[in-house]
Amino acid sequence: MNTIQLKKGKEKQFYRGKLAIEKEDLSEDLFLRDGEILRVTDPFGKYIGTAMISFEQKAEGWILTKDESVTVDQAFIEEKITTAIDGRMPLFNEEGTNVFRLFNEIGDGLGGLAIEYFNQHLLVTFSSYGIYKIREQIFKILIKTLHPASITEQTRFSSDGKMIIENHHVMGNVTFPIIVQESGIYYNVDLSSGPMTGLFLDQRETRKMLLKMNEEVYKSRDFLNLFSYSGSFSVAAAMNGMATTSVDLARRTKEMVTENFNINHLPMDGHTIHIMDTFDYLKYAERHNHRFDAVLIDPPSFSRNKKKVFKVARDYPGLIEGALKILNREGILILSQNLETYTLNQFKKDIDQVFKKKGQPYELLDVKGLPKDFPTSKGYKNGKYLNVVTLKLK
Ligand code: SAH
Repeated sequence: MNTIQLKKGKEKQFYRGKLAIEKEDLSEDLFLRDGEILRVTDPFGKYIGTAMISFEQKAEGWILTKDESVTVDQAFIEEKITTAIDGRMPLFNEEGTNVFRLFNEIGDGLGGLAIEYFNQHLLVTFSSYGIYKIREQIFKILIKTLHPASITEQTRFSSDGKMIIENHHVMGNVTFPIIVQESGIYYNVDLSSGPMTGLFLDQRETRKMLLKMNEEVYKSRDFLNLFSYSGSFSVAAAMNGMATTSVDLARRTKEMVTENFNINHLPMDGHTIHIMDTFDYLKYAERHNHRFDAVLIDPPSFSRNKKKVFKVARDYPGLIEGALKILNREGILILSQNLETYTLNQFKKDIDQVFKKKGQPYELLDVKGLPKDFPTSKGYKNGKYLNVVTLKLK
């Protein structure tokens, strides 16, 4: 096994627990190969950990163990995967839910690998060539332990600075879309057609909250879902008796939302879908006097509509200002964002600033992060990417 040394001064963070090896941690003249297992030492040659090199967006490699007596081999990989599966047993046994994340990258001990379980069908996402090299071994372990009905792989590799995402069928007979269930609600899911499956599993707790919304504090009726995509939040709110409005730019939205309502036998009366830019919709709703009791905002980190670019950290305050204009008294705002580098602290500060500027008092009701099946590691803080803040106008 080869050894690499961290650059001077870089070792301190690793002694504090950092796991992601970044470009600036290593000297430039090193020649590293994807998938290579290496000993990592401090600049004086003292062992820090054993790493797998795996070039990806987030890192050049990950420290996989800090115990020099442990070998990173097949048995090591198998142990990580089976431990992750065992940890999800409560979810396997949960009534009314058959979708969740089985393996969450470095949070489960292997950077660059995510596995999601969709009612017997697996989506295995590789975001590094290094881990992709041992894909066959990973599939074997999954087939042996879970006997899945099908496996689809998704690769997310950068090429010339651009992220290319591809899905490929690996094994099993399946015709997508399939219908899955979460907290008793049905959703359409397609694992074969690109980066988004139809259901974002990390938002399970937010959907659960919407299911309970009529109780006490929430007492909502008219619910607005901005950046709705397939309308999973709208369906959850509708199941709870709310009238929903879903807004998204993409044309596919209309069919996706309608289909998700259909499979839950929810009639579309009282539910509206607008294929529109969110900012345009906010102006339209204000002009037409549409008012809501709850507004949920869950934008992507970045998007482009014709010439207009949306950047979440920059544009979030504008979204809140727009939402405040169409929110009823004592209305609820559910604010979600998933940019890794946009911290909860900063997000809360930005929210507070908008309310101060508008002279609008509010009460913070709830702050949510990732659900339990998306464990994160202390050594990679950016892994905690999801923040959902719920507040009520006073
Ligand atoms: N809230 C959704 C996920 C949103 S994904 C859920 O939990 O299922 C992001 C969505 O934002 C995409 O469907 C995309 O089409 C939409 N989008 C991006 N920019 C937009 C804009 N400016 N106005 C409206 N929708 C936009």
